[in-house]
Amino acid sequence: GYRARSAYKLKQIDESSDLLSEGDTVVDLGAAPGGWLQVASEAVGEGGTVIGVDLQRIKSLETENTETVRGDMTHDRTREWLRDRVGEGGADAVISDMAPNMTGEYSLDHARSVHLARQAFETALEILGPGGDVVVKVFDGPELADLREEMEPYFQYVKSVRPEASREESSEQFLVAKGRLTGPVKSGD
Ligand code: SAM
Repeated sequence: GYRARSAYKLKQIDESSDLLSEGDTVVDLGAAPGGWLQVASEAVGEGGTVIGVDLQRIKSLETENTETVRGDMTHDRTREWLRDRVGEGGADAVISDMAPNMTGEYSLDHARSVHLARQAFETALEILGPGGDVVVKVFDGPELADLREEMEPYFQYVKSVRPEASREESSEQFLVAKGRLTGPVKSGD
């Protein structure tokens, strides 16, 4: 079984958006407890690699193609570590299920969620190879359109997906950006 029900969301996004393939290098942001990691690990197979990052420690998956690290994606050093780890070849997909601690205050939760989604998108620009794809979770609200517009120039297209496995009452959706148009953007280091 999967460690988290959210695994089914990634499965559904993968089915509708053709995301994960054998041999891929996938970076999973906000990966604890590891449901998406399990799905990605199966999909990329022995020849692939999945790298998971979370604030929380992730219990080892015991699969050789999966590696996890504890880190904060809002910190530069975590992003630097990822750039080094992924290296020149670039990642085939960056997937983010990161979510803030919910306060119940709609506009605050929305703003924090967009902030995390933007961190994931900016990280993706640093490590994604040409043709690569991105998935980021975001809670619906007024700042979503801006984020989507920021992403559009870098990809063949961006669409918004709401998998059936998402709870009815949840305002979450996923921005799926397909086909990175250029190579990794050089960061100013
Ligand atoms: N996709 C996961 C799975 O299938 O098991 C579930 C992810 S859970 C919905 C969201 C995760 O985002 C939490 O584990 C949380 O610790 C992580 N997160 C939130 N902010 C983060 C940050 N700044 N850096 C890294 N991870 C973060």
